[in-house]
Amino acid sequence: MEAQSIKYNGKVINYEIVKRKKKNVSITVQAEGKVIVSLPFSVSAKKIEEIVSSKAEWILNKIEVMKKKSDSIKEKKYISGEKFLYFGDEFDLDIIKDDTIKKDAVRINEDKIEIRIKSDFADNQEKVKKELNKWYMVEAKKYINFRVEMCVERLGIRPELVRIKLLKRTWGICTSKGIISLNWRLIMTPVEVMDYVIIHELCHLKHHNHSKDFWSLVGVYMPDYKKKRDWLKHNGGRVNLT
Ligand SMILES: [Zn+2]
Repeated sequence: MEAQSIKYNGKVINYEIVKRKKKNVSITVQAEGKVIVSLPFSVSAKKIEEIVSSKAEWILNKIEVMKKKSDSIKEKKYISGEKFLYFGDEFDLDIIKDDTIKKDAVRINEDKIEIRIKSDFADNQEKVKKELNKWYMVEAKKYINFRVEMCVERLGIRPELVRIKLLKRTWGICTSKGIISLNWRLIMTPVEVMDYVIIHELCHLKHHNHSKDFWSLVGVYMPDYKKKRDWLKHNGGRVNLT
């Protein structure tokens, strides 16, 4: 790998060159904003600069997008004023010290997620995190199961069992035995996105693949499913609690 840089509109673009046994040139911007230019051995240094310059606008744009993405998946601090998603909307966390309460309590209060907690614990991020997670899980079980029931009625496709749980890398899974697992973090997505994931998994009970037939069945029940899929693609990083 070789490190290089060019100037474009007063901005410096740093990039690394990877020479490969291949015919085409490709430029990728990695998650941290690192730019990799991979190309055949035969391309001259001057030509490489030309290629990167011609793509400069695109590269800068991409770096910006990647930065935003990584900002949004920054670790949560669990402090008042921090934003948390619920049904696709952002709510400010409001930590209220209350020594009169018997049990910690979380609730939605207008545009806030209000958590009442004993003053000893109010600055204890782990404790706040635990309480908030517990609340999200209760909400998830209640509402996602409710949406599942609605979708099952509408599609007339009934799974053997539905579980709401923590899934690390996916929104939903459907087994060949008809057991559907749904990510509890769907409680943070808009209700139509929640429905999309449920419909997606229910359709897997008819087609255990992502074939054309599968997608057209999804399309029957949700014609604009692509919009929902895009929402997950673009906001997936915001939907996290770590
Ligand atoms: Zn699928």
